[in-house]
Amino acid sequence: MNKTLFSSVCLIALCIVFTHPAFATEIQSRYVTLQYSGKRMLREFDNKLIMGRKLSAMMRGKDVETVEDEVKAKVNLIVEKTEVVLNMFPDKMHVTLVLLPDADDVAKQYKQTYGERQEDIAYYALSEKTIYISVDDTNLRVLAHEMGHAVVDHYFKVRPPYKIHELMAQFAEKHITD
Ligand SMILES: [Zn+2]
Repeated sequence: MNKTLFSSVCLIALCIVFTHPAFATEIQSRYVTLQYSGKRMLREFDNKLIMGRKLSAMMRGKDVETVEDEVKAKVNLIVEKTEVVLNMFPDKMHVTLVLLPDADDVAKQYKQTYGERQEDIAYYALSEKTIYISVDDTNLRVLAHEMGHAVVDHYFKVRPPYKIHELMAQFAEKHITD
């Protein structure tokens, strides 16, 4: 292999490594494994996640230095508040939260898993215990809705009917700022 060819192969390999979702950054918090690609995406997610008056007040006591700390604190608080709203406190509450750039990426991910197209800015995959969310469209209510699905999923041993699942998620969304 000549030098130029070798360099090109290395470059391609590096591109694959750094753009492959498996190489996305991952941070762990008490309830959530958060996956994202790049600090810019994390910062945008953090900025979009405006917590409202009551939750912001609860954030004040937290030890927050970096954007990672802040996102972790916010997400954990949203999990806890969702549990309070639903009055459901599952023992082993843990979900993966995957940040995707926009709604199109969410739709692509959905199609990859379920084989059909669905336009949505976020969804909770029951089988993977994973929330996929468009950072472009992120806000507190959207995340609370999906977290509602996750809490309900962790709480019931027998999965409630789809419409009831959805109703409880909507309830969490509606009351997250109470
Ligand atoms: Zn829903």
